Amino acid sequence: DFEKEVKVVVLGNGCVGKSSMIRRYCMGTYTDEYKKTIGVDFMEKTRWIDSIGEDVRVMVWDTAGQEEFDTITRTYYRGAGAALLVFSTTDRASFEAIEEWKRKVEDVCGPIVMCVCQNKVDMIDESAVAPEEAEDLCRRLGLKFYRVCVKENFNVDKVFDYLVEQWSHC
Ligand code: GDP
Ligand code: MG
Repeated sequence: DFEKEVKVVVLGNGCVGKSSMIRRYCMGTYTDEYKKTIGVDFMEKTRWIDSIGEDVRVMVWDTAGQEEFDTITRTYYRGAGAALLVFSTTDRASFEAIEEWKRKVEDVCGPIVMCVCQNKVDMIDESAVAPEEAEDLCRRLGLKFYRVCVKENFNVDKVFDYLVEQWSHC
């Protein structure tokens, strides 16, 4: 059967939870162990998207640690239909890098569908970013903002569903 297909790239500083989020979404699993390289380029999942009444094959690409060395190649970005920009509740630098990640995506992909997510909201007591700061940034960038906890599986599906739905209407 013919299926619609979208490539989603997940960007953000190292250790914010990108690989965990991709695993959670595509495989439904989570581990506290930090595995630097997962050894695959992407994972996929087929999702029924209600608003268009169709199955969409979602291919979620992982940076596999390259982001820490600023060596993400154009191959990674090429052909992406949507991008997820991730920062961590406990990592101020990862929040400050969001605008730069958006710019990098746009350099290669142009104005594709994007949104921002703040991961690790279970660690809100150790927060390095005030709630208004995150909301202000996303308003200024014109991007939808989600608070996520991969560990407790809060809002993960919602973020990807949003991206795929927006993409399908483009
Ligand atoms: P990446 O470098 O962005 O791919 O980040 P990883 O997915 O490898 O995650 C880095 C670390 O953060 C791992 O130890 C994860 O278990 C942990 N982590 C991911 N999501 C959460 C979360 O929602 N809450 C907490 N407390 N830790 C998380
Ligand atoms: Mg990773």
